[in-house]
Amino acid sequence: MQRLFSGIQPTGIPQLGNYLGAIRNWVALQRDHECIFCLVDMHAITTWQDPAVLRQQTLAQTAVLLASGVDVQKHILFNQSAVSAHARLGWIFNCVARIGWLNRMTQFKDKAGKDREKHSAGLYVYPDLMAADIMAYKATVVPVGDDQKQHLELTNDIAQKFNHDYGTEFFPQVEALIPPQGARVMSLRDGTKKMSKSDPSAQSRIEMTDNADAIANKIKRAKTDSEPLPSEEAGLENRPEARNLVTIYATLSGRTVADVLTQFGGQGFGPFKTALSDVVVAAIDPIATETGRLLKEPGFLCDTLRDGADRARAIAEPIVSEAESLIGFLK
Ligand code: ATP
Ligand code: MG
Repeated sequence: MQRLFSGIQPTGIPQLGNYLGAIRNWVALQRDHECIFCLVDMHAITTWQDPAVLRQQTLAQTAVLLASGVDVQKHILFNQSAVSAHARLGWIFNCVARIGWLNRMTQFKDKAGKDREKHSAGLYVYPDLMAADIMAYKATVVPVGDDQKQHLELTNDIAQKFNHDYGTEFFPQVEALIPPQGARVMSLRDGTKKMSKSDPSAQSRIEMTDNADAIANKIKRAKTDSEPLPSEEAGLENRPEARNLVTIYATLSGRTVADVLTQFGGQGFGPFKTALSDVVVAAIDPIATETGRLLKEPGFLCDTLRDGADRARAIAEPIVSEAESLIGFLK
């Protein structure tokens, strides 16, 4: 059975893009993988987080993941900072990765914007820590959304350079599992920007704890153009908002974009948005309800993470310890 690793930042409540691009696939992949799921709180602080909010969001995300079907009996769920092996290997990878490689990372450019020099050094070396998250377990399968593809290519470059520099075959290569549909859900306010839980506008995203009214309202107010929906996929060219909404509908209802357009093509956005709200509510409502129930049991959520961290540590500690020996750290 292949070992799988994937993470999510406790920077907010998981949004629909996280669900379609990552969490839904995590749950499906549990059937035939040994899974390690991580709330990457060390990544979260690459941009400032209010400590109380970070704590609360870590628990809230744990609740959403359990409610979505993450099975902690068979698999591991924990928060990154509880296993120090991540930080130790992250530092080693800072010394393996080249500045030129990091300079090419588009996520840093997107997140830092024009004012690059005012951002934390952590945001810049974030991909090195992400490589360490995966390699600390020698995981070979990483299910992610489309935006993480470049970071996983870098992970492979780092693993390869480590092996080369120290004359070993210690770290494996990883495979990014990116879903064929829903790998890049876009903002409801701007079809050229990906949906993100840290976007300042809550209207830009559907959160996994939104109720039916909030979902209907956000979809009703979602940006569109004034043309009716096209009958064929080619008609979505240069219409990013329309493409996004149709893709969300198709992904959640298990249909193709072409099939959805056959049904709704020629119509205005009004009836389509109503139908879209229905499929989104059907997917989210049970998860939101179960999340609400779990949030009333913070002790249980903490115990779940603590138990996950113990099990994660048992795997990562010997691997990172051996990597440290390989590079000449005296033990
Ligand atoms: P942040 O804004 O804080 O970066 P985020 O919404 O981008 O938050 P992450 O925690 O960075 O979420 O990513 C968690 C997982 O969700 C990753 O696998 C990422 O590829 C995936 N993901 C994030 N946004 C989307 C999206 N809009 N569509 C599909 N997948 C996504
Ligand atoms: Mg992100």
